[in-house]
Amino acid sequence: MISATSSAFPSLESALKHFFGYDQFRFHQRAAIEAVLKQHDALVVMPTGGGKSLCYQLPALLRLGVTIVVSPLIALMQDQVDALSNNGITATYLNSSLDVLEVRSREYDLMKGDIKLLYVAPERLLSEGFWPFLTRLHQQVGIAGFAIDEAHCVSEWGHDFRPEYRQLHRLRAAFPTVPMLALTATATERVRQDIVQQLRLQNAAQFVASFNRPNLYYEVRPKERTVYRDLLQQIRTVSRPGIIYCLSRKRVDELALRLQQDGIAALPYHAGLSDTVRSENQRRFIRDDVRLIVATIAFGMGINKPDVRVVIHYDLPRTLESYYQESGRAGRDGEPAHCTVYFGYADVAIVNYLIDQKPDEQEKNIARQQLRQVIDYAESTVCRRQIQLSYFGETLSVACDRCDNCRHPRPVEDWTIEAQKFLSCVARCRERFGMTHIIDVLRGSQKKRILDLGHDRLSTYGIGKDRSAEEWKVLGRSLLHQGLVDETTDGFPVLRLNAQSWQVLRKQISVQVALPDSLSGTGNRTEATVTEGSGLRRSPQGPAEAPRR
Ligand code: ADP
Ligand code: ZN
Repeated sequence: MISATSSAFPSLESALKHFFGYDQFRFHQRAAIEAVLKQHDALVVMPTGGGKSLCYQLPALLRLGVTIVVSPLIALMQDQVDALSNNGITATYLNSSLDVLEVRSREYDLMKGDIKLLYVAPERLLSEGFWPFLTRLHQQVGIAGFAIDEAHCVSEWGHDFRPEYRQLHRLRAAFPTVPMLALTATATERVRQDIVQQLRLQNAAQFVASFNRPNLYYEVRPKERTVYRDLLQQIRTVSRPGIIYCLSRKRVDELALRLQQDGIAALPYHAGLSDTVRSENQRRFIRDDVRLIVATIAFGMGINKPDVRVVIHYDLPRTLESYYQESGRAGRDGEPAHCTVYFGYADVAIVNYLIDQKPDEQEKNIARQQLRQVIDYAESTVCRRQIQLSYFGETLSVACDRCDNCRHPRPVEDWTIEAQKFLSCVARCRERFGMTHIIDVLRGSQKKRILDLGHDRLSTYGIGKDRSAEEWKVLGRSLLHQGLVDETTDGFPVLRLNAQSWQVLRKQISVQVALPDSLSGTGNRTEATVTEGSGLRRSPQGPAEAPRR
């Protein structure tokens, strides 16, 4: 139907308006689309809902030939194709849900050159049987480009490694002139490098959007005996769509049932339900038949429901990354939405137990470190948004005012001297040890390991006896969250100094610690939060910002 080329439109904006009805591009979309139209490889990193699809869909419509979209989300292909068809764009998909006849008929349409976008799962794309078809398609119709969606699946460091993604470099070898666009919502530097290497992207420009989701409010509440009542109250005050995440199928079933008994329209979703029940429950949630879905992490990948107003983690999230993704399903429409984690130590014990069951030592170490990052997030008194963004290597220079810690800050104290002691101890230990060791040295521990290493002879040995181990831990975590010190992430956390650490050591930055209740003795906060935590407020020019309460 549509065989437009770029020349048919005076500007990219007019093409955007024509095909999608939007007036302007979002940040980075235009630049990424221009790169694709110039036949360049590129990597697009945007948070979910950021508008990645447009970066390959619009170029697909402006170029001759068919654009092949590789996606692992078979269940969503139908929706994506339907959405495009509604805009009058010819798209189709090939996956295992189709019978042979249907596949043949779609292949026929493709060969006629009628189709602009083809969605296909990597297994099929790379299968022996499909390869000859692909080659013929390229000869006859032309493959305009490959778009590799969920590209973080190539990386073992991502949260969703899929071995078949590793084979995608074969596309590069077989179709060296066809440009490749990789897209992901996972932004850690490590994963980004992996994507470029594994897919053999050539001189790929990278378009990395901010991961800040300003319309989301973040908070952590204590998981106490009254947690269910608290939850009930929360969902009764917000009578809009919401997702509640639980750790296990059993908990999903129990909670959904309990909510139903209390007259709340909630449905369960987890991998233990039959396909029919699962997709029915999902459909009913998306169509606003029911207001709440209670789910394991099996729910939500690629779900496009823009008006989710609350995402509640009734149990502990597994990693900060998964928390970002799951909470990120709230407020896709840009309107305010609320994200809550209920945090309790019983859950920590369960997760620890699950980690212990893992057979692989390295996997265990990584999982433990990830768990600790989640605990630190929950316990922290630092701006929650700052912590999340620092995880993605992004710095938020001002606190956000859209999280519990910003709205209800704790009293702060100047701990610059302590920070200097701590960081110089990291330096004396040659940046080869973790936090516990540093604190042991500071507090003059007689542990055998300290003596064996001769660390009792360091100049920083015993200079921190005036503070408890707990206080040093508060400081250490705070330094991490504020990016004033780094920690390695390969499962053996080692503290390393960075440029900011040196600024602290050179007295160019003062360090403010927001004290947890357990240390400050100032008692309870009005709103429910965790009972322990740490926080820093950096103030290069002088005294800390006064608490706003
Ligand atoms: P992602 O793949 O990054 O998760 P999508 O591509 O699904 O995000 O886009 C999210 C939503 O934003 C979609 O509803 C899409 O139509 C919309 N969108 C994308 N680009 C624009 C734009 N330039 N203007 C307005 N809406 C847009
Ligand atoms: Zn904040």
